[in-house]
Amino acid sequence: MACITDDGFHEECGVFAICAPGMDVAHLTYLGLFALQHRGQEGCGMAVWKDGNIQFHKRLGLVNDVFNEEILESLPGSVAIGHVRYATTGETSELNTQPIVAQYYQGQLALAHNGNLTNTEALREALAKTGSLFQTATDTEVLCNLLARYAENSLDVAMEKAMAELEGSYALVAINDGKIFAARDPYGNRPLCIGKLAENAGYVVASESCALDTIEAEFVRDVEPGEILVIDETGIHTAAKVPSPRSAHCIFEYVYFARPDSTIDGVNVNQSRRRMGAILARETGDLDVDIVIPVPDSGTTAAIGYAEASGKQFTQGILKNRYTARTFIQPTQAMREKMVKLKLSPIREEIGGKRVAVVDDSIVRGTTSKRLVALLRERGAAEVHMLITCPPVLYPCYYGIDTAERDKLIAANHSLEEIRQYINADSLHYISLEGLYEAVGSDDKYCVACLNGDYCLGHPNCKKKQS
Ligand code: AMP
Repeated sequence: MACITDDGFHEECGVFAICAPGMDVAHLTYLGLFALQHRGQEGCGMAVWKDGNIQFHKRLGLVNDVFNEEILESLPGSVAIGHVRYATTGETSELNTQPIVAQYYQGQLALAHNGNLTNTEALREALAKTGSLFQTATDTEVLCNLLARYAENSLDVAMEKAMAELEGSYALVAINDGKIFAARDPYGNRPLCIGKLAENAGYVVASESCALDTIEAEFVRDVEPGEILVIDETGIHTAAKVPSPRSAHCIFEYVYFARPDSTIDGVNVNQSRRRMGAILARETGDLDVDIVIPVPDSGTTAAIGYAEASGKQFTQGILKNRYTARTFIQPTQAMREKMVKLKLSPIREEIGGKRVAVVDDSIVRGTTSKRLVALLRERGAAEVHMLITCPPVLYPCYYGIDTAERDKLIAANHSLEEIRQYINADSLHYISLEGLYEAVGSDDKYCVACLNGDYCLGHPNCKKKQS
């Protein structure tokens, strides 16, 4: 059963869309989704258009489990969208998987989205009052119903009208009438980029550029904040641009969420993480440690950056079990704690008797760091110094990153010294917000609501700030 939480569902997801006239694109969509798997492991799906008809397949599970050759063969067509979905705070349900496929006034519509609307409840209520039916608690279904209200228009115009009513973050892809429609919210909070297939075979839109590389599509550019795109057999064009008050790209994509080989809004994720490590080294000064080890995988590049800048020896001191899903997927605290041990295993021979600097991307509830420090000590580390490439997470994210409620955020409720004691580290250092800005190259185009509470895209309990 699906559950509606106060702030709706956290939708950390990945989207993919492709239009390649004359080709069958299900396999390419599969590869694109495979490249985006890190953005969501709960479920996935794709919808493919051929000759006026949309067929789709979606299930709970990883891309490789949900699709096989036979299923891909049964989805012929040259226009497709796909989606990978992250585990949410609500119960997992196949009903919540995307794309959503529905019949409306303009024919069949398939829709997939990444992000979190902050006015879902108000929109759902207004729509339900005037007759909309809902099967799920997802933002995507609200979006679908809202688009259907403007069904006398083509889908790009309907999107433009709907976007005037939406608050929060979204990166949308849709199919109608054999065309791809894509849109990014006016703040460009969730990533979305455009690629071109080799030999002018068509165009692709994806959450991250790593999906373009996988199918050998050439990166063209990022979708602009507020931009609505249409892709059809004639090519790609901007159908409309909703005014963008400012850019507010999610900074946490660089810290943790995105794949290092992706370049988002002009900044490569791997290189930004390396800079975070180097800046942390500068900010912490000379730490008396023997080795620098990363918490794999998201801490790895930052640890290299730290080691390069500090002159300390980099060592792979922790083994990551590659067959566990991301720790947050386990909904209870007890399970999360077990998962840390299952997932991360310090190597005795590397850390034994050493003073160790450990680089991780973030501390949210404190679970991972606490368990990890204990494990490192159990396996012989003489000292453990925690270095974190994200400033303290002080506020919940309402825009699609699953960061827990405020009362569970350890930094929102405890001082630096209390956190150090709680995780039992010899010392604890966070990068500063200025340092993080420096690593991502700007202090005025990112959303840092989780770090400073500036909810520039709006908040579920109040209207969007005018800026
Ligand atoms: P915690 O154990 O609650 O302090 O969470 C911090 C750990 O979870 C870090 O090691 C991060 O790599 C990871 N993490 C941070 N944010 C997220 C997220 N939104 N989803 C999944 N994992 C995360």
